[in-house]
Amino acid sequence: MWDLIVVGAGPSGLWLAKRASEEGLRVLVLEEDWEIGLPVRCTGLLGSEVHSFLDEVPGELRRFGNMLVCREGDCVELEIDSVLVERSLFDKGLASMAASEGASILLRTRALGLRGNSVITNRGSFSAPFVALAEGALGGLSRRYIGHGGDFVMGMEGILAERPESEDVKVDVTDRRAFFRWSVPLDRAKKEGFVSRPGTFSGLSSELLARKDLLAVRSGPIPVGPPRGRPIRRSVAAVGDAAYTVKASSFGGILLGMRSSECLLSHLLGEEDFSACMARLYSELRKVRVVARAVHRLLDAGIWPRWLPRVRLMAEDPVGAAWEVFKRRPLRAAATALVGALLYLLRK
Ligand SMILES: Cc1cc2nc3c(=O)[nH]c(=O)nc-3n(C[C@H](O)[C@H](O)[C@H](O)COP(=O)(O)OP(=O)(O)OC[C@H]3O[C@@H](n4cnc5c(N)ncnc54)[C@H](O)[C@@H]3O)c2cc1C
Repeated sequence: MWDLIVVGAGPSGLWLAKRASEEGLRVLVLEEDWEIGLPVRCTGLLGSEVHSFLDEVPGELRRFGNMLVCREGDCVELEIDSVLVERSLFDKGLASMAASEGASILLRTRALGLRGNSVITNRGSFSAPFVALAEGALGGLSRRYIGHGGDFVMGMEGILAERPESEDVKVDVTDRRAFFRWSVPLDRAKKEGFVSRPGTFSGLSSELLARKDLLAVRSGPIPVGPPRGRPIRRSVAAVGDAAYTVKASSFGGILLGMRSSECLLSHLLGEEDFSACMARLYSELRKVRVVARAVHRLLDAGIWPRWLPRVRLMAEDPVGAAWEVFKRRPLRAAATALVGALLYLLRK
């Protein structure tokens, strides 16, 4: 009866369900939790790329035009557009879009295993010619059935009843115990979080939990890859965090997850091989990783790279970034092109 079964109703699974249903596939989504979007384990910051997916972003709280990257009080301002969403409303919005395209979503239904073309759950088994595992970073099915996995670090954030000191999103790389810390202003409160280095999570989390102004706290795994194995085996594929599309330095995993779902949709429609499409995504992530490492090395050496504002652009499109800078500041162009070329060689 179904063409596609999706395990997991996070953004990756729901986006796949919506898009596949639009294309006329009969889609069933299985979700173990009682409610879409809960519990929240996410800040909800999305890059401006979200507008290429959605005209109206469900759960949108506010938009930012800048991001401060700081170290020991010294900050550079990056022109990065982002959208902050209330994550539970974002997921619920995607779920209602998927449902209105015809997808069926079963809550309280935990996928326990796969047998042939069937997904075995606590509420019976369901069959379809293709199964997409969108079960997040901790889901074991992708490891068990397609041998796909990777490493993850832990992220944690608290909502603090404190006036934000800045109107911009702030990323701070001063504390060596964390890969980075972030702070996101809300109206009369702020979110503060960190992605920790292995072994430092308990110390950092105790500090956060001891904050007197703490209103809520959430934590979860963040895949850092590199992914091991291929994310597809015959008629079972992993998408989103389950496919290890996230890197701590890649502006979160929601949009990357949705992009991996687009890859799977192309595969299902016979347009592009899933592995090839995912290889492109992973290679982009490798570039971001190289840039992030280069920046960290410079920071460790006490050098504060003034070209940092172009870092994201450089990672994605070195030539275009150099041209952008050239138009505004010809003198900087040469330096940017040089750094872009170096990063390119590093990647090779
Ligand atoms: C502290 C923190 C902050 C973050 N902040 C951001 C951010 O600001 N921006 C951003 O883009 N990303 C952020 N992320 C990462 C982001 O949360 C993930 O990348 C994103 O949720 C991945 O979506 P997904 O759909 O792949 O998986 P998930 O959102 O994890 O969804 C997986 C779903 O599958 C269900 N499930 C699991 N196993 C089963 C099963 N066996 N049967 C049925 N259902 C199952 C789960 O209940 C869940 O609903 C953050 C992560 C953390 C930990």
